[in-house]
Parts: sequence; C-alpha cells; structure tokens
Amino acid sequence: MQYLFNAQDLIYSRLKSIAHLFLFSDYDGTLVPIAARPELAVLPPRRRELLQKLSRLSGLTLGIISGRQLDEIKNLVQLEGIFYAGNHGLELEGPGLSLLYPEARATKPIIDQVASHLSEMLASIKGVIVENKGLTLSLHYRLVSEAQVGVVEETFYHITRPLEEVGKVKVTQGKKVWEVRPPVDWDKGKAINLLLTQCQEHPERKEILPIYLGDDVTDEDGFRAVAEYGGWGIFVGAKKPASQASYFLLSCQEVDRLLALVLLMRQ
Ligand SMILES: [Mg+2]
Repeated sequence: MQYLFNAQDLIYSRLKSIAHLFLFSDYDGTLVPIAARPELAVLPPRRRELLQKLSRLSGLTLGIISGRQLDEIKNLVQLEGIFYAGNHGLELEGPGLSLLYPEARATKPIIDQVASHLSEMLASIKGVIVENKGLTLSLHYRLVSEAQVGVVEETFYHITRPLEEVGKVKVTQGKKVWEVRPPVDWDKGKAINLLLTQCQEHPERKEILPIYLGDDVTDEDGFRAVAEYGGWGIFVGAKKPASQASYFLLSCQEVDRLLALVLLMRQ
C-alpha cells in the first residue's frame, strides 16, 4: 500500500490516457468525516461542487456506494445523473437503472423485529442509536460510554446470533457500528461489479479505469472489485497494510485534492 501522492507520475498518465474513468466512493469516513450522529455527516459545499463538476464530464462516471439507505444517501449527496448504491449495494439507482436485490426484501420483517427488540432492551443505555434502514440495520455505539459498550455488544449478539445461526440474517461490523443484513451473497464489491459490467456495454467505455475510495471493513469488497479490473482501491485513513487497497490518502481533505486533480486531468 502506497501513499497515493507518492505515485504521481503513474496517476497523471493513467488519469489522462484512459478512455473512461469510473469513480466510486463510499460516503461516511471517506467523503465526510464520521460524525457523532449519522445525520450530522454533511457534505461540505466545495466537495459537492467538485463532485458535481466531475459528474458532468463525459469521460467519467460517478458512483456513491454507501451502507446508508438509498433515499438518505441521495438526500445527503444531492447530485443528479450519478449512480447511488444504498444499504451496501442492495439498492441501486442511476441513469437507466433501478434495482433492489431480489431476496433482500424478505428479511425486512426480521430487521423490523430486531430493531424493536434492540430499542426496547437498550432503551436505558445512553447514546445507543438503533437505525432501521429497511433492508439492513445499524446499531451505532459511538456515543455509548466505554463502561457500557460491553452490555450493548452482549445484547446485540444475544438477539442476532440465533438468527444468524439459522441463516436468517448476516452480521457484520464497521467503525463503532454493528450491522444486521439479509443473508445474501451481495456486497459493495458485487454492486460495483454490476455497475462496471453495465458501463462496459457502452461501446466507448470498453477501456475503463475504476477507482474506489473507502475507509472501512465493508469497503474491502470494493477494493477487491476494482483491483480485478486493474483499477485502484484507495483507503482513506492512516496506512493499513492489511487492506486490499493499493493506495491510501490520509483524510477527507486529501480526497478533495484527488478530486481536484482528477477534474484537472479529465477536463
Ligand atoms: Mg465509510
């Protein structure tokens, strides 16, 4: 894993010469710093402006791939004509595309049930946020006091483990969050694959360079997916040798620098 701006020669030449660029990015922790509460993670105007300019280039396609609900991520980013993947890719939308992963809906009643159990059982613990995202659920414990995290974890697994054991749900984790998902073989990487396959059906977009920016465990699937296309996985955060990403950037501010550079090279 290399610091992206140490590989500038390669970056300049590839960004300039490639026929089509597909730029994918995660949202929380990548385009915006992780906020205390999910609703506080708002995209700064300058970053939106950069993304908007990029989205209007003919040789570039933009995709935001998030663990958030589709409607929510669309509202936060507020850009037209780009691709959005919500709930880790279970919901996809963009020019000529609207897709809900077929079996995901079947898990919805279980997600609702888990959400109400967790809310009830953890009601007395300050800082717990149970976020029912329809197709998946997130339990945020960022604001929970350290002394009580253990109780929250125990409760979470007490409820979800039996369901996971019989194959009714899948449990994953990220930064200060535990998640419950449908037990389907689908993730951010597979969503990216689908978008790339579709993109390449376009005669002028056979030669394509995919880039994926992400900061968390679930983004590793995205890094793997773009690597299979000869693309670049870019991890946002302090260098993480175990990651599948080929490069890293230190912060969301450095993502701005990259976006500006891409704009300059592709204009
Ligand atoms: Mg993230």
